Amino acid sequence: MVLPPRIARRLGSTRTWIAMGVLAPVGMLLVSALMLLDLRRDAWDKAEQTSQNLLQVIERDIARNVEVIDLSLRAVVDNLRVPGVEALSPEMRQLVLFDRAATARDMGAMFVLDENGEGIIDAAQVPSRPVNYADRAYFKAHKARPDLGLHISQPLVSRLTGDRTIVLSRRIDKADGSFGGIALATLKLSYFSRLFDRIGLGQGGAINLYLRDGTRLMRHPYDEADIGVNIAGAPTFVRFVREVRGSFVATSVRDGVERHFAFTQVGDLPLVLNVALATADIEAGWRAKAAVITAVVVVLCGLTACLSLLFGRELRRRAEMQAELARLSLTDALTGLPNRRRFEGTFEHAWKSARRTGKPLSLLIVDADHFKRYNDRYGHAVGDAVLKGLARCLSASVHRPDDLVARVGGEEFVVLLPDTDEAGAMRVADKVHAAVASLSVEAARIDSGTVTVSIGLATERGGAWQRAGAQYEAADAALYQAKAAGRNRTCVADRGCAPRRLGEAA
Ligand code: GH3
Ligand code: MG
Ligand code: MG
Repeated sequence: MVLPPRIARRLGSTRTWIAMGVLAPVGMLLVSALMLLDLRRDAWDKAEQTSQNLLQVIERDIARNVEVIDLSLRAVVDNLRVPGVEALSPEMRQLVLFDRAATARDMGAMFVLDENGEGIIDAAQVPSRPVNYADRAYFKAHKARPDLGLHISQPLVSRLTGDRTIVLSRRIDKADGSFGGIALATLKLSYFSRLFDRIGLGQGGAINLYLRDGTRLMRHPYDEADIGVNIAGAPTFVRFVREVRGSFVATSVRDGVERHFAFTQVGDLPLVLNVALATADIEAGWRAKAAVITAVVVVLCGLTACLSLLFGRELRRRAEMQAELARLSLTDALTGLPNRRRFEGTFEHAWKSARRTGKPLSLLIVDADHFKRYNDRYGHAVGDAVLKGLARCLSASVHRPDDLVARVGGEEFVVLLPDTDEAGAMRVADKVHAAVASLSVEAARIDSGTVTVSIGLATERGGAWQRAGAQYEAADAALYQAKAAGRNRTCVADRGCAPRRLGEAA
């Protein structure tokens, strides 16, 4: 696949890779965080759903059982008014008044009490067991209030069996409307504990059943000390009563555990039920998953960032290497001067610029005289040392930033002088001769004044030459002329040579 150049250039940039190295992990972290938040919300939604389902199942069970008992109590109250029931034998009367509800598993006792609290009819036996409940709060309540309806008592310990129970009762009115006693049925608290125990809620979960006055009837998990405790003033209970049904998260007044409370009133009864799941239990699964996902994402982000930084660094190194190679490909290894390739590019450019602006452009071709002899006499290494010395002499002879000294052949150099006329170039050539005259190589006992150069000069001004190559050839021809004229001198294209310099070696 071929990428558009703009994108390819971007991908090759160190900055792009470093940016990606930062942005990709940030993106990954963001997405993961959103995902984790979503998972957490799912866990809470599931907890809410579970609580509401449990609440509904328990509420229905309690409401139905209480209703069955209440129907039995109503039947007793109503049937007592039926003419002739009074006159029946105690056995017949018991059969007529109490149905099979009285024998249900968690039912304690069913009695009819007279206006003095005396047990007069007993669902369990004839004659009634001798009981008097005139002192019980529920008896007093019915006596005081004719309109009480179904009354559910505080949790009590049964005087007959010792079981923990609640008493459900209804008032019996005499024909004249005055208090005629009550019908009562006891329901063992074991009914609630069995019902709650069937439900698994996790370690910190709880189910509570309260009377509307704040008295706790039952708690799961069961603890004897919880039964009968009144929490009417607790902020959680205030909300249960005020809002009737719903859910919220709060800290339990009983044990300080933070829980999600789902609560409801049980049917029309003065009972409040709640299912409370511990926040820690709700989030336990999510926390485990979140820990693993976070660890994996952090490691991946770290890796991505490291890889991008490494990749960026490699790209930078490659770019630096390419720049170095490009520099080396334009540099002469022996002298460190620009090489022929670099000179050709620069010359072409400078020549066109001179043509355009009309400014002069001078070119010197500098060739060492009889250089072969140094090699032959002193060896190649000394020849190299002389070449380096010549490079230094040439470089020292020019000062403008645009001047260019290059090595274009074995012992052949050029000096390119933009914006320099022939006279100026001649001065530079003189400087070169002077510098070379002072060149010495001590190791080979080559004294100053020994090395000389010949120089060909051609200046472009006012369209003297049709192309850059022509100017170069003219300078080369001038150099040839200088050689022919005896070396160690400068000749100007089409003009002849300057006087022979002193100190010629050959
Ligand atoms: P002329 O005065 O006519 O220029 O004589 P010359 O000996 O300088 O010219 P010629 O072209 O005959 O010889 C050039 C010599 O330069 C050939 C070679 O031995 C030497 N040379 C070229 N490149 C190098 C180099 O890189 N190092 C060394 N040591 N010598 C080189
Ligand atoms: Mg030479
Ligand atoms: Mg030569």
